[in-house]
Amino acid sequence: MSRIAFIGLGNMGAPMAANLLKAGHALRVFDLTPAAVDAAVVAGGVAATSAIDAVVDADIVISMLPASRHVEGLYLDASSGLLPHIPAHALVIDCSTIAPATARKVAEAAAKHGLAMIDAPVSGGTAGAAAGTLTFIVGGEATTLERARPILVNMGKNIFHVGSSGAGQVAKLCNNMALGVIMAVTGEALALGVSHGLDAKVLSQMMAVSTARSWATEVCNPWPGVLENAPASRGYTGGFGNDLMLKDLGLAAEAAMSVGASIPLGELARNLYAMNSRAGHGGLDFSSVVKLVAKDV
Ligand code: NAD
Repeated sequence: MSRIAFIGLGNMGAPMAANLLKAGHALRVFDLTPAAVDAAVVAGGVAATSAIDAVVDADIVISMLPASRHVEGLYLDASSGLLPHIPAHALVIDCSTIAPATARKVAEAAAKHGLAMIDAPVSGGTAGAAAGTLTFIVGGEATTLERARPILVNMGKNIFHVGSSGAGQVAKLCNNMALGVIMAVTGEALALGVSHGLDAKVLSQMMAVSTARSWATEVCNPWPGVLENAPASRGYTGGFGNDLMLKDLGLAAEAAMSVGASIPLGELARNLYAMNSRAGHGGLDFSSVVKLVAKDV
């Protein structure tokens, strides 16, 4: 049993923390939203009054925050940054999806405090977080990953070590760029079929066993009513926010520019999710991008 500080109890962090509690670990939990802390306390965690309060006697610190600026602020802020407060023996695992350069910057600062840190962004969505079947995509020292592995297996079933610090983030952005494109085109295909009078459910079932098969057809189908448990069937709530996908596609564009790579479809998809955000859907699940091409969904 480890003493774990878990910071960031949103759509992903809450179920991940719940799985650590189920595995018997002792969790001190913190989130800026009091209701998120309350829910984690009901699940068995102990409420911390601040992020610093959460980490004071931790063996492991896990963060699951929205974006680079939140992670940089959490660890490096001049007055409230966590690094000087984390016990020297502790291991730091950041599971947020952020810029590779930020991940490297925070890990280097952690090392100066004698702390081992990995970037371990995840794939698998909220359903994977709840089921404990996430994929962890890890950047950092192999020896640090081995220390983290007994904790990560409580939350996920696949663990990939893809390189040194920041590499986990690069690999995660590659995955999400492909996902963003696939989700948008799946929505387009379903809207086209429905415009011709086809049943979206039958069309999806056919595609799910044909060559357009994907996570978007099978797990997070963008058409309401096709999959009972998909965000589309509950008003596009829960799930992976449109603006988080927009953030990831922006990070992919930055990563592409830094090495001169061309990502024509990734850039196009970034614009689609930006349009969806400007249409007022930024807080909805990213599968709501289908609203750009379909009426009445
Ligand atoms: P979310 O917005 O639901 O949750 C983030 C939580 O962090 C919120 O509860 C917020 O209050 C809290 N927070 C922000 N700053 C904080 C701070 N300084 N201290 C304490 N708490 C703070 O986001 P999410 O969907 O849980 O995603 C988290 C990360 O995981 C993002 O980087 C996202 O890109 C990534 N991700 C999400 C999914 C998904 O399906 N939702 C899948 C894979 C990866």
